[in-house]
Amino acid sequence: MVLSLRSVNSNPIALKGEALGPGSERAGAGALEVDLEKSYGDFRLKATFALAGPGVTVVFWPSGAGKTTLLSLLAGLAKPDRGFIRHQGRTLYDSAKKIFVAPEKRNFSYVFQRALLFTHFSVKTNLLFAAKFGGRPLEPGAFARAVGLLGLEELLSRQPRSLSGGEAQRVAIGRALLAQGDLLIMDEPLSSLDRERKDELLAYIVQIPERFGAPIVYVTHAEDELRLLADRVLTVERGQCQLKTRAEFELGWGQLKGGPGLSGVGAN
Ligand code: ADP
Repeated sequence: MVLSLRSVNSNPIALKGEALGPGSERAGAGALEVDLEKSYGDFRLKATFALAGPGVTVVFWPSGAGKTTLLSLLAGLAKPDRGFIRHQGRTLYDSAKKIFVAPEKRNFSYVFQRALLFTHFSVKTNLLFAAKFGGRPLEPGAFARAVGLLGLEELLSRQPRSLSGGEAQRVAIGRALLAQGDLLIMDEPLSSLDRERKDELLAYIVQIPERFGAPIVYVTHAEDELRLLADRVLTVERGQCQLKTRAEFELGWGQLKGGPGLSGVGAN
């Protein structure tokens, strides 16, 4: 399969904040550097990019373009056919050097489409559990900060089964923050929520980069999420993965309009 974009019938994207300047995506220490290929039958993903610095990188690909595949490869749940993945100067995968670091040793934190909480633990224990087995010892005040940011105070003694979808997802995000991965990967975290819950949660998510500092890779095909969150955008064009600053993405957006479209864009 050759990846392509389908029609976009949507308003131009209003971009948040200042675009990163040219050259700001140079690879280096602290960067996530990726150059890999993966095929499943006639589907082929080729991804080459380097993310440096804090902020949110939105992976804005249409359905079927390989978002889940890319995340699985980054997480170590699947192996690329060839290439490398490096993070903060550490090689996580390298086909030439036969290096493959196990998922639990990559030190990334995840939020998935649906909150996967321990149902036999209270909300508080779910959060403390993540903190205990997280990437490093929790800084003083970090627990209270996460609870405050996500409005979890009143949920701490609740059992996960009693939570609404939005509440459970807030707990899942809190847990990911407290696990203190060096990179927070969020895989369409709002896709299972209704409009109201989605807006509510976006208001929390938008504060994470400034208050917690961890760089975020955020996967979505929803334009409103991109508009609110993106500092930079990873797109797929003509089968090639491209990393763009917000400014570059905005420039290219007009060319996409009326052309082939991203599924889900404008649907919200
Ligand atoms: P997206 O998340 O963007 O919707 P996916 O990464 O789930 O896309 O899928 C991209 C393509 O890769 C699809 O054609 C899918 O069928 C195929 N694919 C993904 N994972 C597997 C797998 N484990 N085995 C076979 N094919 C797969």
